[in-house]
Amino acid sequence: MGRAGNGPRGRFRVHSEIVSCLFCEIVAGRIPARVAFQDESVLAFHDINPQGPVHILVIPKRHITSVLDLTPADDALVGSLLRRATDLARSEGLAERGFRLVFNYGEDAGYSVYHIHLHLVGGRKLGWPPG
Ligand code: 5GP
Ligand code: ZN
Repeated sequence: MGRAGNGPRGRFRVHSEIVSCLFCEIVAGRIPARVAFQDESVLAFHDINPQGPVHILVIPKRHITSVLDLTPADDALVGSLLRRATDLARSEGLAERGFRLVFNYGEDAGYSVYHIHLHLVGGRKLGWPPG
């Protein structure tokens, strides 16, 4: 896969094929989500299967398949994902006791939705090493 130009809203192009992506569909508003924050480039929404009292996914609105597809041109965007996640950690009351920020990739990490997303998980004691 790799970086793909945007097709119609909610779709992206891989080679010549237009495919849909679950998180692009959420960005486009065609699949509902409980939105925690959004601006022109970032969307944060509550995970449908939360792994803690707080579990929010922070994503770029533009389709990027995974961390392996990031380029130097995305550095500012990645910075804003991270800073938005820490702002949400504060506003969700996690700053004192702690939280975890995770980018998964690939089969071993259980990466399942191929639109880059930063997990913010907290509100309970989190084991380390992760399972
Ligand atoms: P991954 O395992 O790819 O890092 O994380 C994907 C996350 O997306 C999982 O935590 C999963 O629960 C969440 N997820 C999958 N489908 C949906 C959905 O339709 N809505 C929301 N809000 N979260 C989803
Ligand atoms: Zn996408």
